[in-house]
Amino acid sequence: MHETVTWGLIGASTIAREWMVDAIRKHPSGAVRSIVSADLERATSFAQQKGIPNAYDSVAEMLADPEITAVYISTTNDRHLPDALAAIKAGKHVLCEKPLALEASEAQTLVDMASNKGVVLATNHHLRNMDSHRAIKRLIDQGAVGKVNSIRLFHAGELPESLKTWRLHDKAAGAGVIYDITVHNGDLLRFYLGANPTKISAIAATSGSGPRHIEDSVMSIWEFPGDILVQCHDSFVVGYGPRGVEVHGSAGTILGIDVMSQAPGGSVILRTKEGDEVIPLEMNVTYERGVADFIAAIQNRGKPSSSGEDGVWSLKLARAVAQSAATGQTISIEPT
Ligand code: NDP
Repeated sequence: MHETVTWGLIGASTIAREWMVDAIRKHPSGAVRSIVSADLERATSFAQQKGIPNAYDSVAEMLADPEITAVYISTTNDRHLPDALAAIKAGKHVLCEKPLALEASEAQTLVDMASNKGVVLATNHHLRNMDSHRAIKRLIDQGAVGKVNSIRLFHAGELPESLKTWRLHDKAAGAGVIYDITVHNGDLLRFYLGANPTKISAIAATSGSGPRHIEDSVMSIWEFPGDILVQCHDSFVVGYGPRGVEVHGSAGTILGIDVMSQAPGGSVILRTKEGDEVIPLEMNVTYERGVADFIAAIQNRGKPSSSGEDGVWSLKLARAVAQSAATGQTISIEPT
C-alpha cells in the first residue's frame, strides 16, 4: 500500500482537463483535491466537471492547505515560474509543465530552491515516457543502427482551434512554437543520446496569420558530440504532415512514424540490411508514467522521468534556438 499523495492543480487548462487529472487518479496513490484558476468561475466549473472538491482563485489560499503535498502546474508559460516558486516555498512537491520558466536561469532558481526545501521538482516532458520513444532509445542503446550519425525530427502540426489563443498571440505569456514544441525536442534528443548538443543554428518564421513578432515555425540544426547532426522542423501550421523522427546510423535507420503526439500510437520500424522490422509497442498513456515516476520520487522509491535539471536543459536549448533565429548566429552551448 502506498501513502496517498494529495494534489492541488494550478491552472484550469486543457492538458489538465484532457490528460492530467485522469493520469493522477489512475495512480493508486493519486488524489486530486483542489484546482486554482485566475477566474473563480472557471475553477468552479472545472472542479464540477472533473469532480474535484475545492476550487480557488488564489494560489496562496490553495497552497495553505496542509493536506496538499503535490502540485501540478499547467498555467500559461509565463506563470510557471511564480506558481512553482510559491508552491516550493510552501513545501509542496512540484510537477511543472514545460517550459519551467521563460529563461533557463529562472528555471535553475527553481531547481536550487526545490533542493534547499527538500521537495521534488519535475518537468512534464511527455515524449520520453512514450512507449515509441522508449523503444527508439532502446534500439539506439543496443547499437541496432550502429553508430548514430544523424537524426531528422518532424514536430510540425496544426494547433487545434481551441488552442489558438495565447500560444499564437500573447508574447508576454510565452507564446510561440519554440517555447511550445522545440523545448520538447531538446528533452527528447538528450534522452535519446544521453548528451547535450554543442552547437545550434536556426531560422524562424511566422507562416500563419498570427502577429509577425511571434514565430509559428522554426527549422533548426543541432550538433551533438560524436559528429551527430540533427535537423528539427517545428510548426503550428502544418495540417497534414506526419509527425515523426528518423534516426540514421552506420548500420541502419529507425523510423518513428506519427510518434510526436500526446496520445499513445504511431509505429517504430527498424530498417537494416535484413529488411524492415516492426517493433512491437505497448500503448501506455505517457502522462501516467510521468505521474508514477514523480510519485515514486516523492515516496523515495525512484526519480522523476524528467527532472528539474532536465527542464533547465530543455529550456536552455530552446532559448539557444530562439537566440540563433533572432541573431542569425550559430550558438555554442556551454557544457554546464
Ligand atoms: P490552455 O490555454 O488550455 O490553458 C492555459 C491557461 O489559460 C489556463 O491555466 C487558464 O488560466 C487559461 N485559460 C484556459 N481556458 C481559458 C479561457 N476559456 N479563457 C481564458 N483563459 C483560459 O493551455 P494548455 O493546456 O494547452 O497548456 C497549458 C500548459 O501546459 C502550457 O504551459 C503548455 O506548454 C503545457 N502543455 C504541455 C504538454 C505536454 O505534453 N507536456 C501538452 C500541452 C500543453 P487559469 O488557470 O487562470 O484559468
